[in-house]
Amino acid sequence: MSKFTVTFNEKECKGCELCVTACPKNIISLNPEITNDAGYNPASIANMENCIGCQSCARMCPDCIITIVKND
Ligand code: SF4
Ligand code: SF4
Repeated sequence: MSKFTVTFNEKECKGCELCVTACPKNIISLNPEITNDAGYNPASIANMENCIGCQSCARMCPDCIITIVKND
């Protein structure tokens, strides 16, 4: 299991990519396979194992829709 689990409220994401830019590990990207009701591709993470839990993404999100949980 990865050390951290990062989740995005996909319904609320507006695809601004601020979190994509903020991540020092470059593991966040917009998911082209999902389009939310507002017409945006929400942010998602492919390699959760590479997350270091720095919270840069969550702090940067203007809509506070990113949640980071430390796994035991
Ligand atoms: S917590 Fe840090 S390393 Fe993990 S996804 Fe967010 S910005 Fe990237
Ligand atoms: S910063 Fe927030 S609203 Fe912008 S793409 Fe990332 S999760 Fe979505």
